[in-house]
Amino acid sequence: MAEYEYETHEYDVVVVGAGGAGLRATLGMAEQGLRTACVTKVFPTRSHTVAAQGGIAASLGNMGPDSWQWHMYDTVKGSDWLGDTDAMEYLAREAPKAVYELEHYGVPFSRTEEGKIYQRPFGGHTTEFGEGPPVQRTCAAADRTGHAILHTLYGQSLKEQAEFYVEYFAIDLLMSEDGQCQGVLAWKLDDGTMHVFAAKMVVLATGGYGRAYFSATSAHTCTGDGGGMIARAGLPLQDMEFVQFHPTGIYGSGCLITEGARGEGGYLTNSEGERFMERYAPTYKDLASRDVVSRCMTLEIRDGRGVGDQGDHIHLHLNHLPPETLAERLPGISESARIFAGVDLTKEPIPVLPTVHYNMGGIPTNYWGEVLDPTEDDPDRIAPGLMAVGEAGCASVHGANRLGSNSLIDLVVFGRAAAIKAGEVVDPATAIPTPPKAAIDKALDRFDGLRHAKGAVPTADLRLEMQKTMQADAAVFRTDKTLAEGMEKMYAVAGKLDDLSVTDRSMVWNSDLMETLELTNLMPNALATIVSAEARKESRGAHAHEDHPDRDDDEWRKHTLAWVNGKVDLGYRPVHLNPLLGHNEGGIDLKKIAPKARVY
Ligand SMILES: Cc1cc2nc3c(=O)[nH]c(=O)nc-3n(C[C@H](O)[C@H](O)[C@H](O)COP(=O)(O)OP(=O)(O)OC[C@H]3O[C@@H](n4cnc5c(N)ncnc54)[C@H](O)[C@@H]3O)c2cc1C
Repeated sequence: MAEYEYETHEYDVVVVGAGGAGLRATLGMAEQGLRTACVTKVFPTRSHTVAAQGGIAASLGNMGPDSWQWHMYDTVKGSDWLGDTDAMEYLAREAPKAVYELEHYGVPFSRTEEGKIYQRPFGGHTTEFGEGPPVQRTCAAADRTGHAILHTLYGQSLKEQAEFYVEYFAIDLLMSEDGQCQGVLAWKLDDGTMHVFAAKMVVLATGGYGRAYFSATSAHTCTGDGGGMIARAGLPLQDMEFVQFHPTGIYGSGCLITEGARGEGGYLTNSEGERFMERYAPTYKDLASRDVVSRCMTLEIRDGRGVGDQGDHIHLHLNHLPPETLAERLPGISESARIFAGVDLTKEPIPVLPTVHYNMGGIPTNYWGEVLDPTEDDPDRIAPGLMAVGEAGCASVHGANRLGSNSLIDLVVFGRAAAIKAGEVVDPATAIPTPPKAAIDKALDRFDGLRHAKGAVPTADLRLEMQKTMQADAAVFRTDKTLAEGMEKMYAVAGKLDDLSVTDRSMVWNSDLMETLELTNLMPNALATIVSAEARKESRGAHAHEDHPDRDDDEWRKHTLAWVNGKVDLGYRPVHLNPLLGHNEGGIDLKKIAPKARVY
């Protein structure tokens, strides 16, 4: 057995992750007087939330009429009727409060002439239950909204005496024998020491797992560590087949090129120089919806008309536009293209690829952020001592497809809800549990095994194989055949985890080992994604299935559950259909949100 010394820390609550969700939860917990620690593998303000530009949705009605019922309707429709009704209602109703709180904490929102929070239009956000014109609902701090939110929440959390453990890598949850989470084991990256965080409540706010794919707009740190820990604790992941793709990530780096580039007149071509979108979408061409453009690009590549040496990407042209227009309207994009693709976009096309942008699936929770451990008899059974918020969680408000600017609001609404709930269920007067020695040893053994892995496959090689497989077979283009083949390939890839080779055995700043731990977290997320996708024989939201092109509410309006332990076991749980407020109490009219075809 591996011998490691460790230091023990005791808290009421330990939050793992310091992105928007983790910081909002940390702040709320500390405000309630709970002794709160926030453990994060990167400095808080370097979390991926910092990259969010567009903004945060809430029906403030500052720019014209709006209501939470309209926001809720748009979210239900956006989810393609897979979101949980109670959670979506909670999101839409609490959103304005959560945004005003951010304002009072000090987020420097852009302002209207009268000094109100400025709001911009965003895709899928409408008025009059989808019957009226687009609404301006997305609150923004210029094009640095995520940046502003993170810095503000970090400062406020420090003010409330939350304690931060920065550059500590959480390895595994410490579970009691009867399934209660009692803490987490973490490795301090800069000095190699080990730490046990004992707590009455552990909150996973570890973000998405975009890096399971070859091309992702998310940071390299988005490796689904929370999902990995959950899978190893014997708990399921939910709705993992739903992965949102953005058509234009830069080939290789995945850095996002905004939809505005095509809005300004940019267009896509294949290896024959053909503007292929004219063939697929004669009316809207390059400005068809995100999922449609992504699917057409993928079809061109699959049919052998991709560009580049390996024929595996597409060209985005802006070089026909006047240089003044580019400099004025797309200065950021010009810079990104130069830095990340090495192209001068006034002269040459940008190499692009449909790129993973967001994970709708994650750790199943109720709308208080409490993690679920569903059984057939009790699909809403709570896993004690455990919460999940943000992109790591699945409440589920985004269902099969997330609307733009609905993620940032999800972070703060549910980060806040988790804190409110913890204030009710965590009693500061009771003793902090002692995590069982067996659980600590098990986590240390896993760590030690990876640290001394002497197999044949370097971590970077296996990660690339996983990313290429997921990109080829669990991306935008999905058929019975590609999914079945991809599933077999992914099982083979995952099998090689037993044959990993780690060359650096040191404990201090061992990035080889850290990336290996991350790979062991990406892999269960990736497996759950492709196996859940293979099983779902319909098209819904981001899961567009060529062999089953229609949505099938009778058979498939249900959440997928995936337990990953070497192999993947699937189960299902019903979608919550009941709202929190009745119609006569001011709640939404259920007839308004009854399922119908999703057309925009
Ligand atoms: C380029 C880009 C632009 C976007 N723009 C928008 C937008 O305009 N509007 C919108 O609504 N959404 C947007 N999104 C989506 C949204 O930004 C993300 O979904 C959201 O920021 C995720 O926040 P989070 O708090 O869940 O996780 P993150 O911000 O990803 O933070 C994860 C945290 O977990 C910590 N962590 C992870 N693993 C471990 C571990 N093992 N041990 C310790 N700590 C760990 C990390 O250190 C980090 O602090 C965008 C996403 C991207 C990628």
